[in-house]
Amino acid sequence: MSADVWLNETLYPDWGQRFRVVRELARVKSAFQDIMIFESARHGRVMLLDGVVQITEADEFVYQEMIAHVPLLAHGAAGRVLIIGAGDGGVLRRVLSHRGVARAVMVEIDGEVIRLAREFLPDIAGDAWNDRRAEVIVGDGIDYVARAADGSFDVIIVDSTDPIGVGEVLFTDSFYRHCARILTPCGIVVNQCGVPFMQQDELRETSARRARFFPHVSAYLAAVPTYAGGFMTLGFAAKAAGLADLAPTELRVRAETAGILGTTRYWSPEIHAASFQLPPFIAACLPESASG
Ligand code: SAM
Repeated sequence: MSADVWLNETLYPDWGQRFRVVRELARVKSAFQDIMIFESARHGRVMLLDGVVQITEADEFVYQEMIAHVPLLAHGAAGRVLIIGAGDGGVLRRVLSHRGVARAVMVEIDGEVIRLAREFLPDIAGDAWNDRRAEVIVGDGIDYVARAADGSFDVIIVDSTDPIGVGEVLFTDSFYRHCARILTPCGIVVNQCGVPFMQQDELRETSARRARFFPHVSAYLAAVPTYAGGFMTLGFAAKAAGLADLAPTELRVRAETAGILGTTRYWSPEIHAASFQLPPFIAACLPESASG
């Protein structure tokens, strides 16, 4: 491919980022979305769904570490973890890196995302697909949570697309009601809430929904370079109090016990604690009653 082929992300109608394309690797229309994977000049391989950047090899560690390690360490003794979406397998790999995790169920609606990620982005999941603790299900997350037994998970991680198309059901009252039901008494659910500077309504609306079913609702930040537009937010909803304000000393002990201390490139005990400190324009998106 010639040096002047560029890929424009089509997330916003009036602003965006672009990548210089070295080589296109896959372009598939699945039953759910348009999937494209290409080799970029600067960010390694990049996957887009419906024209929106989902993951790049260069900065996936930021997002995956924060969406996986923060809830698992905040919980402190998570043995059973449910992952919804996350078809690239990167969250599954981070979850399984915690030695206390006995079972990780991943429910991804689009089998083509899994197939293409395994073929073209193999380093993102590594050996996670073959881990005997992992159960990978191709299905809709809303159906799975509706059928799961009460109290069957300690942590739920929702690594979804934005609330349009197939991902929309994962942002509804019904979804959060089931999440609360299937979590254990110290259970936590986290989900990606977009980039508030550009997508303010996403954090505002989903936090209000989470607050209907969880007594402790907050959010934390991650600076993911290719989720462009400033800090991205991850919604955090807990059944128990105090899980969003653990001190770095305690987090360091937990990370050591989990076996992940020293394995991360973005997460650290200090970053974890600090990530719950929100700039006022982002804090304003949380319900007034919100408390970690
Ligand atoms: N970490 C990246 C991000 O947040 O942009 C990657 C997101 S991940 C690839 C999003 C996945 O959620 C997609 O593969 C999509 O197929 C899946 N997904 C969307 N709706 C879903 C649903 N209702 N149930 C299960 N998975 C769903």
